[in-house]
Amino acid sequence: MLLIISNCNNSDTEQWYKGNLHTHTFWSDGDAPPEITVDWYKTNGYDFLALSDHNILSTIEKWIKVHDTDPGGWPPVMTKEKLKDIQNRFGFDWIKTRTKNDTLEMQLTTLDKLKIKFESANEFLLIQSEEISDVYEETPIHINATNIAEFIPPQGGNSVFDVLQRNINAVREQREKTGQSMIAHINHPNYEWALLSEHLINIEGDSFFEVYNGHPLVNNWGNNEKPSTDKMWDIVLTMRILKDLPPMYGLAVDDAHAYYNYKIGKANPGRGWVMVKAKELDADNIVLSLESGNFYSSTGVVLKDIKKNNQSYLIHIIEKPGIRYKTQFIGSINNMNYLDEKNINKIGNILFETDSNPAKYNFTGEEMYVRAKIVSDKFQDNPYSEGDLEMAWTQPIVLK
Ligand SMILES: [Zn+2]
Ligand SMILES: [Zn+2]
Repeated sequence: MLLIISNCNNSDTEQWYKGNLHTHTFWSDGDAPPEITVDWYKTNGYDFLALSDHNILSTIEKWIKVHDTDPGGWPPVMTKEKLKDIQNRFGFDWIKTRTKNDTLEMQLTTLDKLKIKFESANEFLLIQSEEISDVYEETPIHINATNIAEFIPPQGGNSVFDVLQRNINAVREQREKTGQSMIAHINHPNYEWALLSEHLINIEGDSFFEVYNGHPLVNNWGNNEKPSTDKMWDIVLTMRILKDLPPMYGLAVDDAHAYYNYKIGKANPGRGWVMVKAKELDADNIVLSLESGNFYSSTGVVLKDIKKNNQSYLIHIIEKPGIRYKTQFIGSINNMNYLDEKNINKIGNILFETDSNPAKYNFTGEEMYVRAKIVSDKFQDNPYSEGDLEMAWTQPIVLK
């Protein structure tokens, strides 16, 4: 999806690019060979895709067993039916197979070969990524490293925070060593209720997290006791700004694992993505724009433009026929002692809500930060959970 934006400033050469930063294949625990995954995203209008399998890069020679039938259960397996599907789509010679100890095996396609097949200039880009999947005691701690150059093993550590920070540091160190632009982001904080807001507040280096993840086990919306990822974002933003740390940015991603069976409860592609405004479709420009907050996250709502300056925050929505949109400008107010626990419900309030398009919020001078969430009245076609509406999240502007 390409959308050319004309602005009165330097951004008139920039375009919106749609991408997913979190995807799995048979290189780890996805249920499809990588070409099926990449083909899905390219066919469905994405401009870029980061393949982010657990603790592996798709650069090595790897063979997997091809089963006669799918026995079900976990982990998912390659089958003769899936192999036939690939051969039909990409030709009989596309995949290498062999028989070893009476077992049919196939070789997984590497990223280099996928790039040759699927990439095209300014139309489709594949980005090397890894979901560094670590653990502290029983707590899963996952960090995505987007546009990574070399494999990073899980770094371990002495606490949940230490494991997070050490893995983020490892990405930063590789960036400095190789000179390649790359970013780390914190995955699904509410997966197994692993992370608390306090774990994210003091993170140094890259500060990105998944405000939305399409995997069915990630608890995006919280529960009676635990805050939603949206609420965590406000707690983290408020506390980081009080500590003079840079804001945290919120990503929407698929965390797709399941490409053959589409329904609630399966980690299907197409649920959450980022729209990045960049000069060109290459990994450097995508990373640069992410770092400067020049993007928004979406589960269906499409924006024409976002304009922020020190007076106002303006959002222009591209409306779908018959759909209504409500834009909420969310923030915390200065000069409040947020460290007082009684003030927790004053963090991240809706400062202004409007159904106008464009939606405009004029700053009063009291805000610490302002971000926006656009909620439509359209149900997502294949949601992460029943009744989810198409939404978008824009990045915070810090005003303190
Ligand atoms: Zn994960
Ligand atoms: Zn994942």
